[in-house]
Amino acid sequence: MAEYTKEVEEFVAKISQKNAHEKEFIQAVSEVAETIVPYVEQHKKYKEANILERMCEPERVIIFRVPWQDKDGNIQVNRGFRVQMNSAIGPYKGGLRFHPSVNLSILKFLAFEQVFKNSLTTLPLGGGKGGSDFDPKGKTDLEVMRFCQSFMTELSKHIGGFTDIPAGDIGVGAREIGYMFGQYKKIRNEFAGVLTGKGLQYGGSLIRTEATGYGVVYFSQEVLASKDDSLEGKVCAVSGSGNVAQYTIEKLIELGAKPVTVSDSAGCIYDKDGIDSEKLEYIKVLKNEQRGRISEYADKFKSAKFHADTTPWNFKVDLAYPCATQNELDVADTKTMIGNGCKGVFEGANMPTTLEAYHIIKKEKLMFSPGKASNAGGVATSGLEMSQNAQRLYWTREEVDYRLKMIMKSIHSNCMEYGQVDKNYTDYVKGANIAGFVKVADAMIAQGVV
Ligand code: NDP
Repeated sequence: MAEYTKEVEEFVAKISQKNAHEKEFIQAVSEVAETIVPYVEQHKKYKEANILERMCEPERVIIFRVPWQDKDGNIQVNRGFRVQMNSAIGPYKGGLRFHPSVNLSILKFLAFEQVFKNSLTTLPLGGGKGGSDFDPKGKTDLEVMRFCQSFMTELSKHIGGFTDIPAGDIGVGAREIGYMFGQYKKIRNEFAGVLTGKGLQYGGSLIRTEATGYGVVYFSQEVLASKDDSLEGKVCAVSGSGNVAQYTIEKLIELGAKPVTVSDSAGCIYDKDGIDSEKLEYIKVLKNEQRGRISEYADKFKSAKFHADTTPWNFKVDLAYPCATQNELDVADTKTMIGNGCKGVFEGANMPTTLEAYHIIKKEKLMFSPGKASNAGGVATSGLEMSQNAQRLYWTREEVDYRLKMIMKSIHSNCMEYGQVDKNYTDYVKGANIAGFVKVADAMIAQGVV
């Protein structure tokens, strides 16, 4: 906190006091406050309307019981959530996360970030997030279906095409979205675009599955291009092995980079020869169909080694793409990475870098893009799925990919507008925060004190 101004300190202290047990939410607010509080101090209309404090309070939080029956006939109960954070510029939009760590703090941090991210996409989308402490890992398809049906039975009362449109996140992929969509349709008797990330047979969009990972790489391509550099030949560390990691790796390979790591919560794979398309296909089948563990990669490919309980940040790489979860890149890892010559960190996950680690990255002037800017391609393509559903037509793969690329380019230039410090350095965190904030804040002021 040492480098904060008095105003930032006071603001963070107030939010911390009000949300004392919500450490991830306080972390996300602190990161935004660092750049937005000074900006608000310079712009009277935002200060008078107390916009930032209003943005820190969800418009609504729904918490509900989710009972279901497991394969042995036992009755289980989980907790369901939907945080409807801000609807100033459009209906609430944001993913659902199923993971045992899910709690109100994590969902509020994700919903808060989502408000800025959705604003940056240039699409009319408000921000929300939801999920449950249910763990799909190790469950049968039938158990996952029963859980999803019970979860949607309650959630269906609070969402809708013009109200709130959830999508996937950690633990919620095509299978879970399918089960939830089926239950929504049955209960409401309407075939509506109420979820995104749907299967292609029933309203999904081409490229939605790939969009977050592809978008992260498109964003990093823009950052490098602004420095007359490219991805060609760059050695990259990627964490995670789920949706975002898989398609980050796919695009990196396509653009001539060499991804060398992949991970899950048990540890990390380092493949000295690099992960090529054939190895990536193996990862997709292993994780998406067999629901196996990433350690199995090392049994299959001799060039690779599995390092238990290790993150991918200990190897010599040019660029890092954290794509697993929040706070997975800490101070020690960051120092090691910088010591090994890493020149840039592009966040695929939401808030994967701790606040302290980010301060080191900023001090060293590494290239750094916050998730709210670089992983916005996923929600942007969800927005494109909504547009296609509303028009009752489908765009081609090329058309969606082109629009995704254009959106990532425009997010990049919006970040530069507010974040460029000099010819050689852009503060993308500042740029993303201010660009995201201004649009939402102006809409809130126009709509009065509601
Ligand atoms: P998935 O569930 O597909 O994959 C998550 C991956 O992260 C898995 O490999 C998982 O390993 C790993 N992981 C989860 N928790 C931990 C942990 N505590 N430590 C180490 N590894 C962990 O999720 P996504 O790929 O969809 O999401 C990844 C990140 O990207 C999240 O932060 C999410 O919020 C963000 N994001 C996702 C978007 C999307 O469109 N899907 C859009 C924007 C952001 P394991 O199998 O062991 O749990």
